[in-house]
Amino acid sequence: MTIITNAGRITDKQIYALYSEACEAVKKLDFKGLYPIAKNPSSSLLVLDFDGTNSVFVTNPNDVVWYSGLKKRVVKLHETGYNVAISSGRGLDDLQRVIGIPQIKNYAGIHGNQILLNGDRFRNYLPKERQIQLRQIYDGILNSLNENHLPIEIEYKPGSMVLHWREYCEKECMSANELSGFEKELFDEVIDPVLDKYNTQADSNLRIKATNHGMNADFSAENARNKGHALLDFAFLDCTPLYKNILVLGDSASDETMIRMADELSGRYNIYVVSITVQQKSTPDWMMKREYPHIVLPYCKQTDPDNKVGGVPLVGFVYDRLLGL
Ligand SMILES: [Mg+2]
Repeated sequence: MTIITNAGRITDKQIYALYSEACEAVKKLDFKGLYPIAKNPSSSLLVLDFDGTNSVFVTNPNDVVWYSGLKKRVVKLHETGYNVAISSGRGLDDLQRVIGIPQIKNYAGIHGNQILLNGDRFRNYLPKERQIQLRQIYDGILNSLNENHLPIEIEYKPGSMVLHWREYCEKECMSANELSGFEKELFDEVIDPVLDKYNTQADSNLRIKATNHGMNADFSAENARNKGHALLDFAFLDCTPLYKNILVLGDSASDETMIRMADELSGRYNIYVVSITVQQKSTPDWMMKREYPHIVLPYCKQTDPDNKVGGVPLVGFVYDRLLGL
């Protein structure tokens, strides 16, 4: 099997080599900070990111799956009494589909803009007019891509959308020069005209980012929520902290918001917090110099500079420590 990742095609053999190397590095980390959490599953909240933390990155987000063995461990954590919540940039429906564990009842989708608590308390914080505007842009770009016969994937989720064209360019075997020409044409002919048509309001706050052979568009309203707000939703009921211990696991900048929030809670409510970032580049300086005496366990030995396998080796070890394995 060959997995196509953000960093190109890699084979099982290469993945295995990367993991073996990464696992050796992870084994040397000190997991003592996890003991208070492992001793008290039912008073512990685990907030887990999914893509890049529990899964290997893939080109098409629809193809994402749990990394081998991690899903089984999370089910076991739930059965052991841990309170598990999943926090992700994916839309809630999509998130529940890829997680595929009906026993888990707490989710934050679209970086905290959609919240599901205890399986029945749902809140959607996305402003309606923004959703309508984004839908128009999505339909416009989709039509234009069809008219121009470009088989480019568009991932649509409430509040944001992502265009993926790496796979198309790889199939066409474009050189770097051809690729940049193609991307310019794509923006000039397809994307920009649609944005001009629908994104006319001066205050629309639509943020467009073209990265890594794809484009991400989302609304950055001033009062937009983030994963940190979602963590508050999970950890509190009517201003009362529900848990003594919180473990946050994430791999990207969006997860920093929940790590910051966890940090604040630990200072104010005497909650014991462990935050783990599984990629070196997402462990900024402020995390390393935290004010409160709670641990950050950064996966500093970055054996995977091209970011092919994400943080899954570390995560497997963390789960095993929590389960006493
Ligand atoms: Mg992630």
